[in-house]
Amino acid sequence: MAQKRDYYEILNVNRDADEDEIKKAYRKLAIKFHPDKNPGDKAAEDKFKEATEAYEVLRDSEKRERYDRFGHAGIEGAGSDLGFGVNLDDIFGDVFGDLLGGFGGSQRSPKRGRSLQYNLEVMLEDVIHGKEVTLEVPRVESCSTCEGTGAKKGSRIVSCPQCHGRGQVTQSQGFFTMSRTCPRCRGEGEIIQEPCRACNGKGLIRVKRDIKLNIDKGVDTGFRYQLPGEGEAGTNGAPPGDLLVVINVMPHERFTREQNDLITSAQISFVQATLGGKIKVEGIDGPEELQIPPGTQYGARLRIPGKGVPHHRRSSAGDLVVQIGIETPRNLNELQHKALEHFAELRGESPGAHHGGFWDKLFRHYDDDDDKDNAQG
Ligand SMILES: [Zn+2]
Ligand SMILES: [Zn+2]
Repeated sequence: MAQKRDYYEILNVNRDADEDEIKKAYRKLAIKFHPDKNPGDKAAEDKFKEATEAYEVLRDSEKRERYDRFGHAGIEGAGSDLGFGVNLDDIFGDVFGDLLGGFGGSQRSPKRGRSLQYNLEVMLEDVIHGKEVTLEVPRVESCSTCEGTGAKKGSRIVSCPQCHGRGQVTQSQGFFTMSRTCPRCRGEGEIIQEPCRACNGKGLIRVKRDIKLNIDKGVDTGFRYQLPGEGEAGTNGAPPGDLLVVINVMPHERFTREQNDLITSAQISFVQATLGGKIKVEGIDGPEELQIPPGTQYGARLRIPGKGVPHHRRSSAGDLVVQIGIETPRNLNELQHKALEHFAELRGESPGAHHGGFWDKLFRHYDDDDDKDNAQG
């Protein structure tokens, strides 16, 4: 056998050239020396064959490794009387696929990471004062051990030996050529020689990540925070998804929220309701003073301005709304009873002195109630 030239020399690349450089070098030569372009030129045909043989070996990491170690002897006998025993379709698909488009050339396709939704329950106090929270978000991230490649350190991602990087395999029957997705690499065109142990070759790993979020004053149930890039990792260099945090404000035992107002209730005596006065009510941040106007009716809603929920991104706030209940006095002593009868008389409302009158019935009714309560308690 004639002395064979060195494959790297043929392709005019360095010995440490990567797959891309080798492919580019071959593409240049193939275009230059292709028989269709050089009809009847024996020297060009030989050069084309030589380059194709070199490329056939160097693009295959296994063959390349054997060639690097043992030279031409390393790849002979392995069924590699190359020359034109190789499938030119495959090689051309590999080399020109990205130029021709649709030639097969499916590569490890980048996919944007999934976006995640986190339903965050917060206290009413949190949306009144604002709060920094730390979310523990389980998500898929790029594996740090293999930097997302899925390949063990020192191992490589190689062109799929079955489809030679095309992602498709072709079967010829007569004149017909049929393509289907390569079963070995599932259309990715590349396989991992030795998978990374940390992520089992997926390049992705499931972790729990602490993510800080500032709950703004004034947000309400259903409010959404979108945290760009805090979702799951993308594959093959694609960007990660987003994290969507949806706020759910938990019910409070003493307050309900109506937009930015806080609703609470207070009981006052019928004298307070009648004459008016000041009372203390429990606000969300402690006691507040409430002015009761004279003649306040049961169920009245009295407001303490600015003591509700802050408006989102404004310095103002809603009101504390106090719903008024009125206590009817019980267990009146003789004097009190008389005073009220007198009052009724002055109002011209009641024949109070007459037994069986309205007030009398009313008071007896409550006395009875008290007796029942006592009996039960
Ligand atoms: Zn890994
Ligand atoms: Zn394949």
